Amino acid sequence: MSAHRSHDLISSVPTGLFIGGEWRRSAGTFAVENPANGQTLTHVANASIQDGTAALDAACAAAPSWAATDPRERSTILSRAFEMLVERADDFALLMTLEMGKPLAESRAEVTYGAEFLRWFAEEAVRIRGMYAVAPSGGSRLMTMKQPVGPVLAITPWNLPLAMATRKIAPALAAGCTIVLKPAAQTPLTALAFAALLAEAGLPDGVLNVIPTTRAGEVCELLIRDDRLRKLTFTGSTDVGRRLIQQSAERVLKVSMELGGNAPFIVFDDADVDAAIAGAMVAKMRHNGEACTAANRFIVHESVAKEFGRGLAAHMRALKVGDGTEEGVDVGPLVDERAVKKVALLVADAVEKGAKVTAGGLRPRGVGHYYPPTVLADVPRDASIMHSEIFGPVAPITTFRHEQDAIALANNTEYGLVSYFYTRDLSRAMRVAEALESGMVGVNQGIVSNPAAPFGGVKTSGLGREGGSEGLDEFLETKYVGIKF
Ligand code: NAP
Repeated sequence: MSAHRSHDLISSVPTGLFIGGEWRRSAGTFAVENPANGQTLTHVANASIQDGTAALDAACAAAPSWAATDPRERSTILSRAFEMLVERADDFALLMTLEMGKPLAESRAEVTYGAEFLRWFAEEAVRIRGMYAVAPSGGSRLMTMKQPVGPVLAITPWNLPLAMATRKIAPALAAGCTIVLKPAAQTPLTALAFAALLAEAGLPDGVLNVIPTTRAGEVCELLIRDDRLRKLTFTGSTDVGRRLIQQSAERVLKVSMELGGNAPFIVFDDADVDAAIAGAMVAKMRHNGEACTAANRFIVHESVAKEFGRGLAAHMRALKVGDGTEEGVDVGPLVDERAVKKVALLVADAVEKGAKVTAGGLRPRGVGHYYPPTVLADVPRDASIMHSEIFGPVAPITTFRHEQDAIALANNTEYGLVSYFYTRDLSRAMRVAEALESGMVGVNQGIVSNPAAPFGGVKTSGLGREGGSEGLDEFLETKYVGIKF
């Protein structure tokens, strides 16, 4: 990818705060870095507490007219945005790769995934329905209506800068809610470019407001405590999510939380091992391994562990690591140095406790936050890597003998976002799918994300669902009206 093209693209992205349909300056700015080389891409406006309040003012001012906008009109704007995003897929992909490092192919896949939320919720916008019934005891009639919950604060992470935004913005807009979006400080450009696209698609002023900031804590807390805000939707770490739930408790603010994961990937003795290896590569390596849905623990039946481990190591060794903007690169740099250090520490701890490195394991020298695709065999169950979110390209493998043991091991975590398993036995598939403690289960597939399905976790992985029809409900209140006549 030419440096010229990257430069032109970055210069075309607005760098102000997007409030009330205008691009505004702030008192300060902050730098956005390319993790492949540590260079500054550009500087963006750094929202203050006052800017945050101005964004909520704008969202509140636009709320009544947006709620009253015909569903068909809301749907048309979302459809237009979908078409425009697909047309500009290459630009959005390059922008994401530049600001967070994953390879272009992964970024392109994210544009497709992110755009599908616009299409799905454009379709759902015109299917918001209530209910009418005769009360069981007769006399009264029972009616429900669905109404937009009101102004929303959306907070998104850096690992999927586009899709985590569209997964919240599209249903909120479909429901008739206005939004203040606080993107991750490491990846504000994608959110700003997407806000510009929505404005071009016809979204009225103030319906979406975007406030990049390096003071997430102060700016968001003030908004959460503002009684005009009606909903908080957050995707990020469990620690921050917990803090936000505490802040929201005082006002009993409606919250949706998409938090961390520690996904088990079980391979049973009756599995198609080649298919399991292919699925493992997807489950592990999507988005550089920096995904909440990333397979974090490979739990493999002892009779197929050698075959699976050998195949997985061969596939991992074959991946090309490099600057994500170069075609042919499979694994880009991790988002920052802290991420690399965390991965390296988890690997060192596992090795110290007896794990064997069968691929990767050594950090390359030079610039950029790189960590090689790594496979660890015979990982002891008490190694930290089995209990922490890795968020990097490392696959730890442990073995089991009995189905019950695999299930117990899979469920032995505070998290419960997604689980994967491979088997050719239908009875086992049903039994295990029911027994796994997670919001989502992938059976014989290494990917579950689908805009038409409810995405979300149990236990400390979160509250609520995004996508599917459930994703729209998160932005609607059900009002029951009892009628006698
Ligand atoms: P993070 O540190 O929790 O940050 C997420 C977002 O919260 C960022 O915008 C961040 O802003 C903001 N934030 C941080 N502290 C805050 C505070 N005190 N008040 C308000 N906002 C605050 O998570 P991350 O490292 O960016 O993302 C990785 C995590 O997200 C992983 O745990 C991953 O599993 C999870 N994730 C979950 C899903 C899911 O659907 N379940 C999807 C993707 C990622 P700054 O950028 O300024 O820190």
